[in-house]
Amino acid sequence: MATMTERETIKTLTTHYIDGAFVESHGREVMDIIKPTNGQVIARVTLADEEDARRAIDAARRAFASFGKTTKDERSRYLRQLQKVVSAHIDDLTAVMIEEYGGVARFARLIVESGVNAFAAAEKALQELPLRESWGKTTVTMEPVGVAGLITAWNANALFICLKLASAIAAGCTVVMKPSEMSSLQTRTMVEALNEAGLPNGVFNVVTGLGTIVGAEMVRNPDVAKISFTGSVAVGEQIMRDGAATMKRVTLELGGKSPTILLDDVALDKAIPSALILAFMNSGQACAAGTRLLVPKSRLDEVRRAIKDEMRNYTVGDPSDPNNMVGPMVSRKQYERVESYIRKGIEEGAEVLVGGEGHPKGLEAGFYVRPTVFVNVKNDMTIAQEEIFGPVLSVIAYDSEDDAIRIANDCKYGLHSAVLGTDIQRARRVASQLRAGRVVINNMTDDPDAPWGGFKFSGVGREYGKYGIQAFLEPRAILEAA
Ligand code: NAD
Repeated sequence: MATMTERETIKTLTTHYIDGAFVESHGREVMDIIKPTNGQVIARVTLADEEDARRAIDAARRAFASFGKTTKDERSRYLRQLQKVVSAHIDDLTAVMIEEYGGVARFARLIVESGVNAFAAAEKALQELPLRESWGKTTVTMEPVGVAGLITAWNANALFICLKLASAIAAGCTVVMKPSEMSSLQTRTMVEALNEAGLPNGVFNVVTGLGTIVGAEMVRNPDVAKISFTGSVAVGEQIMRDGAATMKRVTLELGGKSPTILLDDVALDKAIPSALILAFMNSGQACAAGTRLLVPKSRLDEVRRAIKDEMRNYTVGDPSDPNNMVGPMVSRKQYERVESYIRKGIEEGAEVLVGGEGHPKGLEAGFYVRPTVFVNVKNDMTIAQEEIFGPVLSVIAYDSEDDAIRIANDCKYGLHSAVLGTDIQRARRVASQLRAGRVVINNMTDDPDAPWGGFKFSGVGREYGKYGIQAFLEPRAILEAA
């Protein structure tokens, strides 16, 4: 039971952002926001219902009548305003990501910064993207698709909001956003910042509610032309199925089970730290996490020793402590999910090299798991095929380069991959054979102009740069008879 002091610090959110104002929720259901480091209630949020969603969609539909006709320069100006206001809140956005989600400080800040930078990147991409082409008596213009519904997951809330909003605004779409209900405090901080940009009323609207209620309304509503979704495969499939009735355009950013291939000429002193960052970034709650480490059989013993040494740096604990590498899982449900996979790995005969079941010592109150590395994993084991979304790495041995490529591609996902090796020509040759939307060579790296998205079950369509803007555009051809 909450004490008086605890009760006083519990925040209450009862509004949504519709048509340029914070308005009281029509929905009445209240959800607790739980702090992942100790399981305590830190906020109570009134969730939106279908009526709130319809009001937001209606505001976006009305705003589209003029916003859909804006020029590149006008949209560029709005993107600069958004960049400016959000940049001023990097510290608050980082702090609330640590508090509500449990993101480790060193990573949370990077996530927020890459979100903020999305506006400048979209402005640059928009300036470079031709929106009009003509030849003979034919003119093709790239038109905004209409009202866009943006539905997102909880593991990088600030980034998802900024990235999707930036691309949609660059394209001239108006927007209804439904971030994860588990990110309500982070969303509120972000929306207060975005509100300062002074965009015309109705251009972006934000409703916090359950996916099955608010998200489902957005997917079936005929006034929403496009859904851009980041989340699980199961929900992505449902959006595609239900969206078909109103011929929704969809971008789906789904899960991953990304391979990191160590080539046999690799220098382990650099490669193992890189591979473990890929595996454990964002406490393993990352769609791109490199959770399958493919190791040449000839170097297996060395790799085991190097992983054991490097894992000593992977301290788990309070995410606000900048020394900690791994924080809690976002929720009890996520904690239990990760634990069940660790149990499954043991049952299926994989060997625990580091970590294992249960809370780390002294961290029993929060949703902390032990960062775990399995060795002797076969690629057909559950822990090698299913997305765990926690700090669990499977080490899989391979015989030859072709065998490594075969194992890497033998998975239903194809979001991200990494190739680490000394001979760069060889690393490039291997990279070019991987069925993944993005392959990094020799370390995690980023480029805001490069597309992001998945092959196979990792999704449909791409985000970032011109690819992200094109996903909110439709070509219209006007042909004049001679
Ligand atoms: P989730 O699919 O459960 O929820 C994502 C969003 O969809 C939430 O806002 C939720 O409320 C909403 N939703 C739920 N049911 C819905 C429905 N029937 N109709 C419409 N919307 C609905 O996913 P999650 O647990 O929040 O996030 C984890 C998943 O997200 C993982 O699978 C992860 O790989 C994926 N993810 C992918 C990327 C990427 O860029 N590819 C990035 C981050 C996370």
